[in-house]
Amino acid sequence: MTIWALALHGGAGAIAERVYQQEEEHMAALLEQGAAMLARGESALDVVTEMAAALEACGLHQAGKGSAPNANGIVELDASIMDGPTRAAGAVAALQGFLSPIRVARGVMEKTPHVLLVGDGADAFAAAQGFARVEDPKSYYATASSGLASSAGLGTIGAVARDAKGRLAAATSTGGLQGKMPGRVGDTPIIGAGCWADQRAAVSCTGLGEYFMRVNAAADVSARIAYANVSLESSAAAVIEDVRQLGGYGGLIAVDAAGNLSAPFCSQGMKRGIASSWGLREIKTFR
Ligand code: ASP
Repeated sequence: MTIWALALHGGAGAIAERVYQQEEEHMAALLEQGAAMLARGESALDVVTEMAAALEACGLHQAGKGSAPNANGIVELDASIMDGPTRAAGAVAALQGFLSPIRVARGVMEKTPHVLLVGDGADAFAAAQGFARVEDPKSYYATASSGLASSAGLGTIGAVARDAKGRLAAATSTGGLQGKMPGRVGDTPIIGAGCWADQRAAVSCTGLGEYFMRVNAAADVSARIAYANVSLESSAAAVIEDVRQLGGYGGLIAVDAAGNLSAPFCSQGMKRGIASSWGLREIKTFR
């Protein structure tokens, strides 16, 4: 039997006072698309790219179209992607005016000798490569016009997958924290903090990025498996506990080489969906 596993998240900014039916319905449909891609044998890297791009485009989370502006009213986007088997990685930070930061991050991974491009340099690279632009930021960004996803001031999207060949990959994308200082960069585009994939685990984080950077959260999930010989579940839970003890909050999604999935969080909620080849399907926002 073909083994595959997939997890998606739409951020740890979910608050108990709100109902997330639309987000959950969209995520359920997307999860089925991702499941079908993996069942057909598509690569984990392609699946997380497509899942993240769709989560960016839907406007229901604080990433891509749903991004909230910084303190100056400008949307600055962060994203990263990592391929487990090769540990190739690409990221952009404080990118402005492009529809899919995750596709630009993948471009950095595949078309440059670098891992991270920021600000004007990231914009110039995206323009030179012909990535699709946001034509009219004022009307495009959902939060700027409606306050839609801004309920808790944060949100991010992510995807992790284990494909039929056992390859792992992770992708994370965000508009960052609403009202952040111009130029502020969180964990999302930092390989090791907000995104990680190697041969042991693929991880995508969400929450107060400063804390995830200080515990090097995403890479630590894999390191704990390697050094402490613990399961994905205990490793992921220990990393979130580390974030919590420092005073931060948020969560992560993770998958290991065997296709085990884990999605711990210490925030009120975390929009998430998991699916696997052995029939697992779960879409949840709260506990
Ligand atoms: N981690 C993201 C950041 O700090 C925000 C989030 O996950 O909601 O930029």
